[in-house]
Amino acid sequence: MSAKVWLVGAGPGDPELLTLKAVRAMHQAQVVMIDDLVNPAVLEHCPDARIIAVGKRGGCRSTPQAFIHRLMLRYARQGKVVVRLKGGDPCIFGRGSEEADWLKLHGIEVELVNGITAGLAGATQCGIPLTLRGVARGVTLVTAHTQDDSPVNWSALAQGGTTLVVYMGVAKLADIRDGLLAGGLPASTPVAMIENASLPQQRDCRSTLATMHGEALAFGLKSPAILIIGEVAAGAQVLPIVQYG
Ligand code: SAH
Repeated sequence: MSAKVWLVGAGPGDPELLTLKAVRAMHQAQVVMIDDLVNPAVLEHCPDARIIAVGKRGGCRSTPQAFIHRLMLRYARQGKVVVRLKGGDPCIFGRGSEEADWLKLHGIEVELVNGITAGLAGATQCGIPLTLRGVARGVTLVTAHTQDDSPVNWSALAQGGTTLVVYMGVAKLADIRDGLLAGGLPASTPVAMIENASLPQQRDCRSTLATMHGEALAFGLKSPAILIIGEVAAGAQVLPIVQYG
């Protein structure tokens, strides 16, 4: 079998949300490099592979990206089938395309495999439709954390008229609230904050734009969590019932 690196989305946590293609890649893998947001339970699909943890959680001890690149390259050049497992989708705030480009530049065959991204999973698990006729005509996935710490233009995002799904936002709740209020989003806009989406320990905290910071503190909201900001976050009770027939 020829060397290849699979860049695979492991989904948000629930192992049943893996794709069949992800499972097939794991079955073939000889080396699996796993991020720390990946649920280790998914490793049942690659019992014979060598497992290497290369997590890099924000603020914690981390494996430098260059090291991860070199490790993938080394195993691929040894002729090994490598699976790089990433939480959610590899290309949503996951550097999947950077890793793919770098490997291709070094002559390695790469295949990207979609995963269900945390924002979509969290919404669905909480019964929140991210788009809804007459209520939300689109959805914006945005990170609160920028590599160079440059400020996010929350005011502009307030004008978009779409549901906002914010990744890496737990430490930035006050900035997000202030920016969105300054941009004109009503203080009463519903917010859902979903921790550990799709895992047995999933929790969700409902609030409004004005109260989300205080409520998250009282709730003890911890990373990993996503925020859903928009009318749809109010949940089923307050959304219009569409009549058919
Ligand atoms: N590629 C991943 C995102 C990686 S960025 C994806 O597509 O889901 C890391 C951020 O993703 C976390 O800070 C958090 O905001 C979000 N996240 C990842 N897994 C999560 C989960 N199970 N529940 C809630 N948020 C999650």
